[in-house]
Amino acid sequence: MIARTDFTHDPAARSWVESADGHDDFPVQNLPLGIFAPPSGKPRGGVAIGAAILDIAAIASLLPEGARDIALLAGQATLNDLLDAGHEALRALRHGLFRLLTDPASQEAVRPALHAMAQCRLHLPVRIGDYTDFYSGIHHAVNVGRLFRPDNPLLPNYKYVPIGYHGRASSVRLSGEDVIRPNGQTLPIGAQTPIFGPCKRLDHELEMAIWVGRGNALGQPIPIAEAAEHIAGLSILNDWSARDMQAWEYQPLGPFLAKSFHSSVSPWIVTMDALAPYRVPQPARPEGDPAPLPYLLDPADQQSGALNVTMEVHLSTARMRAEGQAPHRLSHGSMTAMYWTAAQLLAHHSVNGCNLAPGDLLGTGTLTGAADESRGSLLELTHGGKEPVRLSDRESRSFLEDGDEVIMTAFAEAAGFARIGFGECRARVATAPRL
Ligand code: MN
Repeated sequence: MIARTDFTHDPAARSWVESADGHDDFPVQNLPLGIFAPPSGKPRGGVAIGAAILDIAAIASLLPEGARDIALLAGQATLNDLLDAGHEALRALRHGLFRLLTDPASQEAVRPALHAMAQCRLHLPVRIGDYTDFYSGIHHAVNVGRLFRPDNPLLPNYKYVPIGYHGRASSVRLSGEDVIRPNGQTLPIGAQTPIFGPCKRLDHELEMAIWVGRGNALGQPIPIAEAAEHIAGLSILNDWSARDMQAWEYQPLGPFLAKSFHSSVSPWIVTMDALAPYRVPQPARPEGDPAPLPYLLDPADQQSGALNVTMEVHLSTARMRAEGQAPHRLSHGSMTAMYWTAAQLLAHHSVNGCNLAPGDLLGTGTLTGAADESRGSLLELTHGGKEPVRLSDRESRSFLEDGDEVIMTAFAEAAGFARIGFGECRARVATAPRL
């Protein structure tokens, strides 16, 4: 069952938390989940509300019976057990938290569990067992394919198989942590033998992170009609890429060191319930494209399995920061650029019996749209590095330089509903270690 809207989506709802009403990202209609540590405390689960974080387990006794045990699951250093409780549990928790944060009579009892976000340390929301990166942005697949195969950019499997590969979970880091430029092998243009050294074509990839909620047992696929129930929520993902290393190493087994050195995620899991008002039909496939095979096709998923989430990428160089310039906007696009829905990605991932676990991370793939301004990587924005992006009178970029900071943001809007946001996914490029 795909989430429907309810009283928690009422745009007129108000919270007694002063900073919440009209907050760009975290009004009371959002209630995203994360892990935070207050100034002198251990990491624990919290919900973002305006400029504050509510300690979920600390207010468990104030919740109705059904939600109390669920809230206590959030009293740990990761949210894996909470996500494992399933989508109905997350919904009961959302309903309980919404009532506490909107009812002025609860204020006195709840307020001691509120912490100013600016004074807290945020952590990865889950212990990530596995990270899988898909390739569902069809415009990205075409743009990148065209650099290698101008006449035949899209391989014949693309419209049948949700393409993906197994990424590296150990190097997924929270927004804010520097990304260290990787060293590796690259083959200079025209050369017969590779050189070793710092990556020269470091790039960002604008993606969304899909967090797995309740998992499945080995050998028991998740049917497409149930796949939405296994998705806990979304965050922003910057899937850093070493393009020059990738070009040399990727055949025949696919991405390896060019993709495993670092991926950045934003701290807050925006739940699928919070995203219910922004669901839209999966865009119709172009005339002549094959229909998805039956195990990937569900009418309800086609009807409302896409998400109208807007994503933006900004770049701030060391020079821009020194001169007090605002970050330069590189791109602006939408999650509707996905050729496959999130539910299709889950159903496909498990169809061979592969078991998904709570807290597993699925990347959507780079979400470039049809428009030029929505290109989600520098590889695309600069046509393979040939046409640098002009940032100001004095600076341009083909690929990222040390000190560059990439800032990704995302939000959802719909007529008749509040705007909610994901916060930001930000990281700065640090110099490669000397080897
Ligand atoms: Mn990727």
